[in-house]
Amino acid sequence: PDLFAPERRNSIGFDLHHTPTLDAVDKAREAFQEHQWNATRLLATDAAPLATAPVTNPSTPEDNPGTVAPASATDAEVAMASATPWTAPAAERATILNAAADLYEAHHGELFALLAREAGKSLPDCVAELREAVDFLRYYAANIPDAEPAGTFTCISPWNFPLAIFSGQIAAALAVGNAVLAKPAEQTPLIAHRAVQLLHEAGVPRDVLQLLPGGGELGARLTSDPRISGVAFTGSTATALKIRAAMAHNLRPGAPLIAETGGLNAMIVDSTALPEQAVQSIIESAFQSAGQRCSALRCLYLQEDIADDVLTMLMGAMDALQVGDPWHISTDCGPVIDEIAHRGIADHIAVARADGHVLKEMATPEQGTFIAPTLIKVSGIGDLEREIFGPVLHVARFKAQDLDRVIDDINATGYGLTFGLHTRIDDRVQHVTDAIHAGNIYVNRNQIGAIVGSQPFGGEGLSGTGPKAGGPNYMSRFCAPDRQSTND
Ligand code: GLU
Repeated sequence: PDLFAPERRNSIGFDLHHTPTLDAVDKAREAFQEHQWNATRLLATDAAPLATAPVTNPSTPEDNPGTVAPASATDAEVAMASATPWTAPAAERATILNAAADLYEAHHGELFALLAREAGKSLPDCVAELREAVDFLRYYAANIPDAEPAGTFTCISPWNFPLAIFSGQIAAALAVGNAVLAKPAEQTPLIAHRAVQLLHEAGVPRDVLQLLPGGGELGARLTSDPRISGVAFTGSTATALKIRAAMAHNLRPGAPLIAETGGLNAMIVDSTALPEQAVQSIIESAFQSAGQRCSALRCLYLQEDIADDVLTMLMGAMDALQVGDPWHISTDCGPVIDEIAHRGIADHIAVARADGHVLKEMATPEQGTFIAPTLIKVSGIGDLEREIFGPVLHVARFKAQDLDRVIDDINATGYGLTFGLHTRIDDRVQHVTDAIHAGNIYVNRNQIGAIVGSQPFGGEGLSGTGPKAGGPNYMSRFCAPDRQSTND
């Protein structure tokens, strides 16, 4: 491929180290610091208003960025009955998706305010998320396969990338010409609503793309109806398995499920690694986005000989992290998404504390659903019973002769999303990366933040079905069956 072809170009984003840029971004989002948004269903035709519930800012309980009116069972029925594939020529669909990308960028101040106030995103995370959303729109627009659409796609997206993954699923389905029913995560309806408004404004017809805010019951309805041709889902492995079962009973045989699910991601740091580089990578991989990325590092393996030195540096680096309101530019680690998430993570830390396994804890703000970066000692990844979706890093030590056992333990989790390796031995890079089962493997760098078009993202085993998002084969699964491929 031509690396410099226009369709390979990624969004430039905003350089927050450049003071005039930072000031301009700050000013643009300040206008929305007290704005109120209302998320409602956006159906093919207007429908009567529904009862609303407040949406809460996870870092500031007294801030309600707006209200949501969840869609009803009747709305789901109306949406499925009126869903219409996008018959505009591919070139026109591409133009409209590119126009939507431009609109997203033009509305960066509002989208950053929404991402901070509804999803607790720090400003650097907001910038990265907008870039990724725009990249997905432009990448899929530039690579539309010559194929028929599958029909109507249900897209169910997660709260941790409420703009990027939400837009990525939709853009791929739309680019091919499908009708889309989008059900965003229950925690982040406002940003989804705004995104769909912008897609409509760019020219996506309202009967082609409909928005249905709601929870699990609505999701079940939209994935178990024979009028649905396929499902794109990002979220937990457990929910993906339920969707797969419902689809098998109700949809036509072979209807595609494109699922991106959880991970139990490990990193191995051997004694030849550069400690400064490793520590920087560990901090970013484990604690950026408050650890709420499915790609995030959960279990760090340090080779015995360097473990104490790396841990000392790591704890020092953790002390420099600012935990707090993501609106502040100096914040590194914002809140976790809600009370339920908070309780689950806090319980996990409490058990480790009672067992004397907590190596480092830090103070958290009193209000809001904050978990400060935490280090927990484990004997290996097998000690982790589940994915802890927050800024909690588990650390194990290994001896050089046990490297292959460590690899086996990592593979034995059954997940296979991301993996990180820090070493300066070339043969070891080859050996470890050949042996590890993971969709995205990163060497001597952090293991988050896959870039659309150059690092297609997705896992294997319990981590997902493929094909990888942001890669050349993703859209093939949104096409009518004769064009589908299961390659990643
Ligand atoms: N694509 C993201 C990354 O590489 C993670 C996506 C997710 O958390 O679902 O960091």
